[in-house]
Amino acid sequence: MAAEKIIRCRLIPKGYCVNIFGTVWARDISWIDRYVVNHERIHTAQQRELLFLPFYVIYFIEWLFRLVQYRSVHRAYLNISFEREAYTHGRDLTYLSRRRPYSFLRYLRRPRRD
Ligand SMILES: [Zn+2]
Repeated sequence: MAAEKIIRCRLIPKGYCVNIFGTVWARDISWIDRYVVNHERIHTAQQRELLFLPFYVIYFIEWLFRLVQYRSVHRAYLNISFEREAYTHGRDLTYLSRRRPYSFLRYLRRPRRD
C-alpha cells in the first residue's frame, strides 16, 4: 500500500477517511484498499498544487456552493471538483502517473455525480 501514512482516529466517522496534509486519518482502516489509497493520493496531489491550506478553504467554499446547488449534504460532497476528479479516477491506479497539474479545474463543470 506504499508510503501513505494512515492514522487511526476515533473522531472520524465510521467508513470515512480524511486527508490532512497528505496523511490519511480514519477510525477503522480495514476497509481502506488500494483504490481508496489512490483516491487519497489524488487529493494529496491536489493539495500540493494549492500549497495545502488553500485546498481546504476552496474545498469548503465549493461544498457550500454545491449544497445550495444540490440541497443534499452527500451530493454536495460528491460534486466538489476535487471529489469529482478523485472519484472519477480512484480506480485507475495509473492515473496519477499521467495526470496533468490542476486537473481538478476540469471537474468544476462536469461530470455531475449522484
Ligand atoms: Zn475524496
